[in-house]
Amino acid sequence: MSVLLSSEFFNDIITDQFVGNTINNHGIFTFSTKKGWVNMLVVGISACLLGEKVRYDGGDKKNPVLLAQKERQISYIPICPEAQCGMGVPREPMQLEGDPQKPRLVTVNSRIDKTAILSNWSKAQITVLQKNKIDGFIFKNRSPSCGLEVTVHNSSKTATKPQGMGLFAQQVKNSFVDLPMAQDDDLQNQENIQKFIMEMKHPTPQPSREQDG
Ligand code: SF4
Repeated sequence: MSVLLSSEFFNDIITDQFVGNTINNHGIFTFSTKKGWVNMLVVGISACLLGEKVRYDGGDKKNPVLLAQKERQISYIPICPEAQCGMGVPREPMQLEGDPQKPRLVTVNSRIDKTAILSNWSKAQITVLQKNKIDGFIFKNRSPSCGLEVTVHNSSKTATKPQGMGLFAQQVKNSFVDLPMAQDDDLQNQENIQKFIMEMKHPTPQPSREQDG
């Protein structure tokens, strides 16, 4: 089994004086350093949360609590769907519009529909991720690409804003059954991160749906 590794991960290994690696019986990537064997959870993450300057305005959304896990139990796979699909940095901000169940990704000012480019790139990226083993995914919330809970804009004047899911996050959710997923808003302290780590180590299978008819 191959594992897609980030450049940051290699830096970590070098820092810890890496001497070997393997996949253990539980499918968990492990590596040996002069400090001893370490079981690493392999976790996809919105790249801006690790401090990569990939946001539409050229900034980041660095989360120090999440970043600190790199030194401990997590090997991150940083992904920025918008930058990596070719939209570049900086870029015009976008928002979700239309049907919350099937929203479209549209630039706010120039009104260009970016749904196809983001969706097609996401499908290809999912295929890459499926060839590797990931234990979980951490998303930047409210992003029209990465968010798990995102406002979907439409013409109705309802008091409550309809909620949808970012296009890339939706494809990850559809493609990885039972994969533990979290949003950065819920991982702001060590206690919640440890709960998420335990969920990744011992994922709870979702009950199968009853057949209609
Ligand atoms: S939220 Fe997602 S698409 Fe937006 S900058 Fe972060 S990683 Fe990129």
